[in-house]
Amino acid sequence: METKWFTLRTVEDKESIAQAADILRRGGLLAIPTETVYGLGANGLDETAVLHIFEAKGRPQDNPLILHIPDASWLTRYCEDVPDAAYKLAERFWPGPLTMILKKKPCVPLRTTGGLETVGMRCPDHAVTRAIIEASGVPVAAPSANTSGRPSCTTAEHVREDMWGKIDGIVDGGPCQVGVESTIIDLTCEPPRLLRPGGLPLEALEDVAGPIAVDRAVTQQLKEGEQPKAPGMKYRHYAPHADLQLVEGETDRVVEVINNLVKEKLAEGKMVGVICTDETRVRYPQGEVRSVGLRAKEETIAHNLFAVLREFDDLNVDCIYSESFSKDHLGQAIMNRLTKAAGYHILNV
Ligand code: AMP
Ligand code: MG
Repeated sequence: METKWFTLRTVEDKESIAQAADILRRGGLLAIPTETVYGLGANGLDETAVLHIFEAKGRPQDNPLILHIPDASWLTRYCEDVPDAAYKLAERFWPGPLTMILKKKPCVPLRTTGGLETVGMRCPDHAVTRAIIEASGVPVAAPSANTSGRPSCTTAEHVREDMWGKIDGIVDGGPCQVGVESTIIDLTCEPPRLLRPGGLPLEALEDVAGPIAVDRAVTQQLKEGEQPKAPGMKYRHYAPHADLQLVEGETDRVVEVINNLVKEKLAEGKMVGVICTDETRVRYPQGEVRSVGLRAKEETIAHNLFAVLREFDDLNVDCIYSESFSKDHLGQAIMNRLTKAAGYHILNV
């Protein structure tokens, strides 16, 4: 398949927006930029188009997709019994990295929701993408644009690596600002429940919605056969090819332990990656050392995390050791992604 590339940085480029929207309207697959990560979009009401998303990604069919809309006024087209809290949250946080799980209307196919009677709704904070969705006139089902299991794409180049020749178009709208996926909150239960931490910190959500329960799947590895409320949580996720191990503890000790592990692996003839921060970068003399950002500014870490994981794939390292982060605010999402990428392989020192 021929993949069309759109460099699209402004909503003034009406011609490209119309062409991109046309791909969606005709049932094609279009990679779209958002503030979180790149999405692989298709008309969420078109079962065939949605099936093609699952095929292009190699995504399990029971892993539901999120519907992207240009503003909260579209909620009632696809959702039933929308609670006041949803409008309150949309008012405060949309456009932005918040996905709300609501009861779906019959027009939303079960293929889109992975067989669930609920649907995830989000309004992305990317003007070009909202303009494309608006012009297409359809809600856009869009999971992350990576091949299933790989780290998510935070640039259009990442999407090219995974999807070139498999989809109809890629919209290059620049690098994603946030860098981790949206925060998912289930509003069909009382109290609301956090299903996935993401770009919008739980603390900010609670300021508006009151206390929120945290689903077990957010913090713990699920047991064999256990059904999570967010079906995506049961799959291997965000993982680089190499074995990734998280090292948790007081910083000086973490640096020391990682340096020793690197030395051991190098002696075995292995190629070793280290994920550190600007503050500790100079303390790692050996290995392929990459800083993910400033520990003191966790939004820089969220922004760079997936790009660093993908870079280690390109380098073909055999193993990776990573520093850990605090679990407050954005740190909750950062540690959730790192823990899953590491397959819960955590070394406490
Ligand atoms: P992705 O689009 O790859 O970031 O993944 C979207 C994730 O949202 C899925 O893997 C699910 O875990 C979650 N999700 C989407 N829709 C629902 C839903 N209706 N109920 C619960 N979780 C959902
Ligand atoms: Mg994903």
